[in-house]
Amino acid sequence: MADCLFCRIVSKKIPADVVAESPEALAFRDINPQAPVHVLVIPKEHIAGVLDLDKGRSETLSEMMSMAQDVARKEGIDRTGFRLVFNCGADAGQAVDHLHLHCLGKRALAWPPG
Ligand code: 5GP
Ligand code: ZN
Repeated sequence: MADCLFCRIVSKKIPADVVAESPEALAFRDINPQAPVHVLVIPKEHIAGVLDLDKGRSETLSEMMSMAQDVARKEGIDRTGFRLVFNCGADAGQAVDHLHLHCLGKRALAWPPG
């Protein structure tokens, strides 16, 4: 989608600090990090959000999870702990309508989240 921010990152029209890449998914550092490690894992294909992930898309989700595991290991937070978050809709503060998995770590994370 031409007017989607994350599609523009996928097509390299907007630069990003890429941490991992596969044919199906991309991981890059969040521009406004909420923790010392804050990486976004996205599908390269435009999917608006969690509610658009139907059962036929289970491979996309599996690829994203596998990439999140790789990111956690690369960033050294597999040992200390980390949080994976999908924000969905207004109350969760979803700002970008392209599915993304936040991978946060390298500090103690409060629970419940704000
Ligand atoms: P949401 O609030 O939709 O769950 O998360 C969107 C995330 O995208 C936010 O954490 C925000 O900081 C990040 N973000 C917004 N614009 C950009 C950008 O241009 N580049 C990068 N790397 N991250 C962005
Ligand atoms: Zn998109």
